[in-house]
Amino acid sequence: MSFRSLTVRHEELPWSWPLRMGTGAAALRARCIMTAWDDQGVPHQAELAPCPGVHPESLSEALAFWHQVVEPQLLDKPLLMEKWNWTEPGFGLFDQPELLMSSVETALEQLLLSWAQRQNPEAYSLPAPMTLEGSALLVIPPNGDAGWREFLDLWDAGFRIFKCKVGRQAAAQEYEFLQRLVRHGAGQLQLRLDANRGMSTDDVMFWKTRGGDLPILYWEEAAGLEPVAFDESLWDKAEPPPAQAWILKPSRLGLARSVYLLKRAAAENIPCVLSNAFDSGLSLRCSAWIYAAFCANPQPLGFGTGRFLPDDIWGSGAWAAPSVTIPRQPFARVDA
Ligand SMILES: [Mg+2]
Repeated sequence: MSFRSLTVRHEELPWSWPLRMGTGAAALRARCIMTAWDDQGVPHQAELAPCPGVHPESLSEALAFWHQVVEPQLLDKPLLMEKWNWTEPGFGLFDQPELLMSSVETALEQLLLSWAQRQNPEAYSLPAPMTLEGSALLVIPPNGDAGWREFLDLWDAGFRIFKCKVGRQAAAQEYEFLQRLVRHGAGQLQLRLDANRGMSTDDVMFWKTRGGDLPILYWEEAAGLEPVAFDESLWDKAEPPPAQAWILKPSRLGLARSVYLLKRAAAENIPCVLSNAFDSGLSLRCSAWIYAAFCANPQPLGFGTGRFLPDDIWGSGAWAAPSVTIPRQPFARVDA
């Protein structure tokens, strides 16, 4: 069993509204759809889509690496199912996996998972579809009421968990905005707060004295504040310390590393929250499937970025916010 041919299709998906990514404003989400045909003529799809500010490599660097390193190993070489290992990069089927860039590893593992599912559908299926609540991603406005109106729309749509980036405006202003949400939420609303390692010492002091008033599930990458959650800290290969939650971005970690962390989290009783890097539907379906298959204690999904790519993600009924139904098989919808 092997792959016989592969095509690469460049795509640029429009954002719902202009978005700053990495160093500048990006009008479009660039990605490459890789379609590989196996020796039975069946197409398998993956998405190569490094995200500026999350992945160290650019799309052109990832694509060059794919052509030079991945394709020669992937095409016309037998894939040995008996070597499959969920927690090894490239699922144990790839030589020198330590060389793989994370976006390339993720795309390769998406292809391999699709292929494995084709080989043995029952072994690579969930027992049943799983529906999970999602959290909403909310931007705290620097001024004006736009953020408040956005919140009301999300609240009316049924969201009850709100993820907000903090440490970007004055702490007192962010606190006031969050208090307003909490008053409206009347005991039902919960907050996930993410500082992206960017909070000043003064702000940490502010939140230490005031944060106790708010229903905060965890502080993500905000050194000095508790309960602690890790996201960026999981991106290197070091062993992560225990936390209130680990935030997993499979498109940044690789699917195999995500499985490893999910298994370790299950053993240590650490909740894992699934997150993403402005991924489009193909990657989200695959990441969600990995999560559903290996997570011992599923949490509301961090798929609030889906609103930024509405045509791609929310067009399917199974992916209607605020809840997401994860299909039994990750590639239930392949349109090669
Ligand atoms: Mg984060």
